[in-house]
Amino acid sequence: MTLYTGPVFDMAREQFHTVADYLDIPKGERDRLLYPKRAVAVSVPVHMDNGHETVFQGYRVQHHLTLGPTKGGTRYSPKLDVGEVAALAVWMSWKCALCGLPYGGAKGGVACDPYKLSRRELEAVSRRYMQEMIPFVGPRTDVMAPDMGTNEQVMAWFMDTYSMYQGKTVTEIVTGKPVSAGGTEGRREATGRGVAHLVGRAMERLQMHPAGATAIVQGFGNVGSVSAMALTERGVRILGVSDHTACYYDAKGLDLPALQRHVAAHGVLAGWSSEAACDPATLLTLPCDVLVPAAVEQVITGANAGKLQCRILAEGANGPTTPEADRVLAGRRGDVFVIPDILCNAGGVVVSYFEWVQDLQQFFWDEAEVLSRLNRVLDRAFNRVMARVEQDHVAHRDAATSIGVQKVRDAKKMRGLFP
Ligand code: NAD
Repeated sequence: MTLYTGPVFDMAREQFHTVADYLDIPKGERDRLLYPKRAVAVSVPVHMDNGHETVFQGYRVQHHLTLGPTKGGTRYSPKLDVGEVAALAVWMSWKCALCGLPYGGAKGGVACDPYKLSRRELEAVSRRYMQEMIPFVGPRTDVMAPDMGTNEQVMAWFMDTYSMYQGKTVTEIVTGKPVSAGGTEGRREATGRGVAHLVGRAMERLQMHPAGATAIVQGFGNVGSVSAMALTERGVRILGVSDHTACYYDAKGLDLPALQRHVAAHGVLAGWSSEAACDPATLLTLPCDVLVPAAVEQVITGANAGKLQCRILAEGANGPTTPEADRVLAGRRGDVFVIPDILCNAGGVVVSYFEWVQDLQQFFWDEAEVLSRLNRVLDRAFNRVMARVEQDHVAHRDAATSIGVQKVRDAKKMRGLFP
């Protein structure tokens, strides 16, 4: 298949084949498990504020519909391509299956820089993208959510656009909406809170104490900032943070509330402090107990994996660690406890599932109920991954992925191949 190319899809493919070898999946069965069911590419024409028309490229990849509708985020990023979107859809499938959610994976997005669009342009891109996707999505077909570069507001525009075309309000078409527009309590914080919860579980196993522990977080958007905040609530000191505009480090600990206030006011970290500024290239390899990559893919590579000085690598981002880096980490004989992305950041899709269920039933839960159910689902997935690690002596990522792949494979086998 030549449609799915590029370094990020190559990563997803390599990870899958590693696990398929471990599970002894015959070669003839693999393409059907790996390659997406459907990829949609659309043009998104928009009137820009300068009076010109710009056409952005939009995508949606639906990996499989074997277990239910597809589910996955929408990414706005300048270099987005179908290979990256497909890789993210494949990872979503293994993540949903690992957590026992009745979904296949999907992902989508628009190749645009949301930081350079005005609010009006962002709304125009969002509404036109959703309008183009209407024939291919639906509450029982494919349900979108936020990802990098999108947020609650974008989800509200998606929901409104879809609803206008249906002639009725269809809140269950997207998740990650504001609570005021049919969203659930706890969704915005779910991914970061899940990261912190799983770091807590890893610390228990390693007999570490959160109070007095230290962390570095790359990416200060939804996942990064909430992970940092939730770790702080557990007594962890945040030594370093970065986003695409700035990077800060202080061995005594950063003032997280002040950073959050700065980002709330200015949108980015740039301009917060000149004293704490640090080189983003070295941030990931500085000493800390917990390292949370929560931005883009492929930041932990064969070149820097050997230099990591963390005890726990909590992958808030999707695909932050390359297969080459995994091999380096494997050679370090477990001195870095990896919480792989499909487990570590699963809190987002778990609470998205809760949102979808609540919207379908029009019966809403309070935040305490959402969080306690979230922790139960994450604990179950974590325990299953650790049991497989101990039973088969495989890497944490391979254990997590194999549980997901096996579930999808079993369902495909039972359903058979139509016609
Ligand atoms: P976001 O757009 O809210 O934030 C992204 C952050 O990353 C921003 O602070 C941005 O400045 C920063 N960033 C971008 N490029 C960077 C770089 N080169 N170096 C350092 N920082 C950089 O996005 P998000 O929703 O927080 O998503 C972050 C990651 O988490 C992505 O990999 C996404 O797929 C994953 N994820 C998100 C969710 C969710 O619920 N939002 C769920 C699961 C996984």
